Amino acid sequence: TSETLDLKSLIRSIPDYPKTGIIFRDITSLIAHGAGFKQSVRQLVDPYRGQGIDKIVGIEARGFIFGGAMAEQLGVGFVPIRKQGKLPGEVIGQDYALEYGTDRIELHADAIKAGEKILLVDDLIATGGTAAAAVDLLRRAGADIVGSAFVIDLPELGGTDALRAKGVDVHCLIAFE
Ligand code: IMP
Repeated sequence: TSETLDLKSLIRSIPDYPKTGIIFRDITSLIAHGAGFKQSVRQLVDPYRGQGIDKIVGIEARGFIFGGAMAEQLGVGFVPIRKQGKLPGEVIGQDYALEYGTDRIELHADAIKAGEKILLVDDLIATGGTAAAAVDLLRRAGADIVGSAFVIDLPELGGTDALRAKGVDVHCLIAFE
């Protein structure tokens, strides 16, 4: 059937992970559900059909799961953004602030051609720090970022506002207040 599922009910919430007081929103229960996974992939790409997307860029690690399926849906390539030290070829990197300290993401230097139209994807946007660093990295590589797609938004943390302030279109499927 083509019944629409309530995707939010397929997300599992795990209290006190990775530390006390945090509720981890877990997409493994969504992707284990065949119809739920399929619907989520469709809903992530639908707003960006017919916009000439050249490549999907996914953020390690859960962005790879949705991004690979989205690339197949659109018939375009997939490019990974990874944590430091994971990509084998020549890379460009971008540091970003964490609550304590900094982290670094990397992109293969030859993965994006100047002017290519990119759709960025990850499972979840919280403060937007990770996605904003990905946007900066992709722009340095010459990407034209058509938009970004996230399964889950935590709106109280302001990530989507921060990304929109950078001129990036943002599309999310579910919000947890
Ligand atoms: P941000 O940089 O603060 O927006 O955090 C988003 C990044 O942290 C994404 O790569 C998410 O996969 C990860 N993340 C943060 N909180 C959660 C959560 O509750 N569930 C799954 N991933 C999370």
